[in-house]
Amino acid sequence: MVSQTAVKRLYLMQVGSMPDYRIPIVCYLVQTDDGRNILIDSGLPPIIPEEQREFVNGQMIFEQLAMLGLQPDDINTVISTHYDFDHAGNHGAFTKANYVVQRAHHEHAPGNERYALIRPQWDQPLERIRLVDGDTELLPGLELIETSGHVPGNQSVLVRLLQTGAVLLTVDAVPFRTSFVRDLADDGSDPDAAAIRASTNKLLDLVAHEQVQLVIFGHDPEQWEGLKKLPAYYA
Ligand SMILES: [Zn+2]
Repeated sequence: MVSQTAVKRLYLMQVGSMPDYRIPIVCYLVQTDDGRNILIDSGLPPIIPEEQREFVNGQMIFEQLAMLGLQPDDINTVISTHYDFDHAGNHGAFTKANYVVQRAHHEHAPGNERYALIRPQWDQPLERIRLVDGDTELLPGLELIETSGHVPGNQSVLVRLLQTGAVLLTVDAVPFRTSFVRDLADDGSDPDAAAIRASTNKLLDLVAHEQVQLVIFGHDPEQWEGLKKLPAYYA
């Protein structure tokens, strides 16, 4: 049985890295049958602040979209997984887009210094932001999965493709393949460990129940090397 989907293509792009650890900084683009362009995250800001110098920009998101003939104004929706600096660094450039973010994250962010650096990017007028509460189907074949833990109101994305099948973008809920294990050990050092463990277990259950064919981890250097990157795509 093929589940209903309006999603045509999934593009992966690397827009930066943490060279010391070979860690890729990535964004995704979903294209639908009816011509909508949906971005997932927007990468590092053009100028890396002094205190974040372990990050470097690669080919910027704008150049990569241009390879597909897309301008920033062609982006209809930006799904924001969370407001960390390497995920929301160019949100403001997509002036025609609406943003989709978990309400819990959007309401948490103004009070946390962690997100202050790029606040002008994510602190958009509320009429342009769709705040969602928990797991949400954005359109047939595109689902937001609430995965708090990495941050409050973090979200992952499930994309159902006709040929590839279901693809889970864990994003920062599970940055590396090695941490995609049930009941992650807790050494007591991380106050968010219980929430991270719960979200990891939730995604493992989803992989089992939704016949997920491909799990793409948020920052995994080894896996990233073997994936198709823009201009190639998953259909
Ligand atoms: Zn990240």
